[in-house]
Amino acid sequence: MTDIPYKIYLEETELPKSWYNLRADMINKPAPLLNPGTGKPMTAEELSAVFCSDLVAQELDETNPYIEIPKEIRDFYKMYRPAPLVRAYCLEEKLQTPAKIYYKFEGNNTSGSHKLNSAIAQAYYAKKQGLKGVTTETGAGQWGTALSMACAYLGLDCRVYMVKVSYEQKPFRREVMRTYGASVTPSPSMNTEVGRKILAEHPGTTGSLGCAISEAVEDAVTHEGYRYVLGSVLNQVLLHQSVIGLEAKAAMDKYGIKPDIIIGCAGGGSNLGGLIAPFMGEKLRGEADYKFIAVEPASCPSFTRGTFAYDFCDTGMICPLAKMYTIGSSYIPAPNHAGGLRFHGMSPVLSQLYHDGYMEARSVKQTDVFEAAEYFARCEGILPAPESSHAIKAAIDEALACKETGEEKTILFGLTGTGYFDMVAYEKFHNGEMTNYIPTDEELAESIAKLPKVSE
Ligand SMILES: *Cc1c(COP(=O)(O)O)cnc(C)c1O
Repeated sequence: MTDIPYKIYLEETELPKSWYNLRADMINKPAPLLNPGTGKPMTAEELSAVFCSDLVAQELDETNPYIEIPKEIRDFYKMYRPAPLVRAYCLEEKLQTPAKIYYKFEGNNTSGSHKLNSAIAQAYYAKKQGLKGVTTETGAGQWGTALSMACAYLGLDCRVYMVKVSYEQKPFRREVMRTYGASVTPSPSMNTEVGRKILAEHPGTTGSLGCAISEAVEDAVTHEGYRYVLGSVLNQVLLHQSVIGLEAKAAMDKYGIKPDIIIGCAGGGSNLGGLIAPFMGEKLRGEADYKFIAVEPASCPSFTRGTFAYDFCDTGMICPLAKMYTIGSSYIPAPNHAGGLRFHGMSPVLSQLYHDGYMEARSVKQTDVFEAAEYFARCEGILPAPESSHAIKAAIDEALACKETGEEKTILFGLTGTGYFDMVAYEKFHNGEMTNYIPTDEELAESIAKLPKVSE
């Protein structure tokens, strides 16, 4: 057998030319988005008031398995892709495990995460439609940063509503966005009706992702030439992120490597959905079998302790209802340093697959995540994002299980980004000040009891 290099790259000519639409191979399709007013599935026309028309078509497409990546987007991808597939030789050595560990590293671009893969696609379709700009929300700031980069490249206006606490605590991310020309507004703000209402009801609130989404949507629908874009959860985002899995699979195929276990962190589900897409496709078509593991924070356990039901994606309850694993849109997760994983719900595609038994999920405690992050950084060199470190933790646990049994399993995990802007979190960890808040059953039950009533 050929020696596997530390990094497996693809030639430009080997990069994916189409995204893979997992829904085409799903037997039970994800449930449609519902109009909260009528309780009926959202039509393309209704969605077009909020999203660009090509993206609406992608959102609703559950039949075409392959959707061509426009040449302009492929050219942009070439500036920072392929993302390397790394054989974690040093980690294997340190763990003394017979397992073979690989990770797909998405942190090799200035925004520092996989989010750029969908940001450029969404900005491209907005530009193609002749729009002036896009609005969005950002929590920890990775999505806002990625979108600012994409908009700067295409000459689009970019308006970002940033959760107020992050706006104040993460000034560096904010300034990166402004460097790329985005306007960044702390949310809740006085710019929108929903923002003013939330401020009147909760003066002094430091905001939430759900609230920032409501403001960004309102801003888009009340301004001519603007549409709203979202960095996770939606079907279209998983579609764009399939580039991660397609590249990973192509690189593995080159060396005849077949993963047994595929692991990703899950916030809204976009990186995980993208990484597993082509592998899950094979599983759905009965061509191969893999074990898929979603890893979420114990402080925001949508899969592991949530319920599969229709819920709002935002706090202002203006967005469509999505059927997903959720802990309730009224639940405000305890401050957790993996900001990108603090969403109450989960992608409808992944929710359906999890519900149908195609994948597993587990939750991990914050301090265990940082311990894994540090362990990884000290041997593999990369400083991982706290979000990504959830996947590292599970990969290490699986590798240690192989050490017990002597099994030589092949593990693939998604390393979604770098943690340079998360040093306050690392500092808390080093000083022993990091807490592990885990919601009680009562808290979750209270929030789940407030889910909208939908007759299906
Ligand atoms: C946003 C983010 C995530 C979580 O989002 P998903 O949509 O679940 O992929 C994970 N890692 C990083 C680095 C992020 O920025």
